[in-house]
Amino acid sequence: MSETGKAAVFFDTGKDFEIREYPVPDPEPDAIVVRVTSAGICGSDLHVWRGDIRIAMMGPGPRILGHEMTGYVHKLGSNVTTDSQGQPLKEGDRIVYPYFFPCRRCYQCLRGEFAACQIKYPPPPISDNAPHFTGAYAEYFYMKTAAFVFKVPDDLPDEMVTPVNCALSEVIYGLQKAGLKMGDTLVIQGAGGLGINATAVASAMGAGMIIVIDGVPERLKLAKACGADEVIDLNEAKAPMDRTSKVMSLTGGRGADLVAEFVGLPAVIPEGIQMVRSGGTYLEVGNISLGQTVAIDPSQLVWGNKDIISVNMYDPWILPVALDFLSRNKDRFPLANVISHNFPLDKIDEAFQQAEWEGKQTAISRAVITP
Ligand SMILES: [Zn+2]
Ligand SMILES: [Zn+2]
Repeated sequence: MSETGKAAVFFDTGKDFEIREYPVPDPEPDAIVVRVTSAGICGSDLHVWRGDIRIAMMGPGPRILGHEMTGYVHKLGSNVTTDSQGQPLKEGDRIVYPYFFPCRRCYQCLRGEFAACQIKYPPPPISDNAPHFTGAYAEYFYMKTAAFVFKVPDDLPDEMVTPVNCALSEVIYGLQKAGLKMGDTLVIQGAGGLGINATAVASAMGAGMIIVIDGVPERLKLAKACGADEVIDLNEAKAPMDRTSKVMSLTGGRGADLVAEFVGLPAVIPEGIQMVRSGGTYLEVGNISLGQTVAIDPSQLVWGNKDIISVNMYDPWILPVALDFLSRNKDRFPLANVISHNFPLDKIDEAFQQAEWEGKQTAISRAVITP
């Protein structure tokens, strides 16, 4: 009998996953079959699970969810002999890779803007046909083209590497696109997986004062350990005005050079824009749910000469930058602690229930599935 692997399959109805077995495919010449060792539950997975963006973004299922992951080479396609930086690649090597596949044939890809390719994601729903393994919550992941794949240095534990292909790369890409410079004051809205990684990255990029806003004490503590100079606790600064005036007083009445949104709720945008200094920038990353709106006063942008930069995903060259950042800073920032909870694949329902934060506070900064 051929080899099979487990996958947590998600249907359009309900929130429970079903564990199914599928045959492990043989890789096509340019593909890699990955044995997934760790898969994060990212905020966007919760949006899909909750139903915010299920059909609208993903199309009808069933499908294997999950995109933030790492693993090792199970089988290499015959054309794949090295990673994207020329390091020899063999079975058993730990790797990171984008969970999306820029088509390299569209207008955006032609211009090298891989993050803006509109057909790179999501994968098609599961059918009767191989390769089945198109998401992270499974024992295997089928990397249909190994165009962008990077060997993981031995000294980095899986706990640190899991967020590399989503949270960490996205925040590096976002902060770079927003033009964060040495000495800039930065406000980070939300200290989940994205916000904590952004705090550490901004520190390493030489940011000046970093102010982090969240309502969970454990997260604020971790933010401080990852380089936050000041934290604003939502339990103390309850109204938007309390938070904006705190930012103003910390920045000499000016506002911050850069304010970055990693919460995923439209309601935080108006106060975030208010916190931006005249001539500064607002970075929008967290809001991915279609159709959710918020009223803003555009004259504030115009009179304030404020920019808004939005990013989704990243260009693949960020991945080795992220790995290098981790290798250099692994003893400086306790980023492995972003992962607060760990569940086996067959406990995935429990993992999602515990990670859910909408309408409540959760101590979970990142839960991972270890298939
Ligand atoms: Zn993600
Ligand atoms: Zn494209």
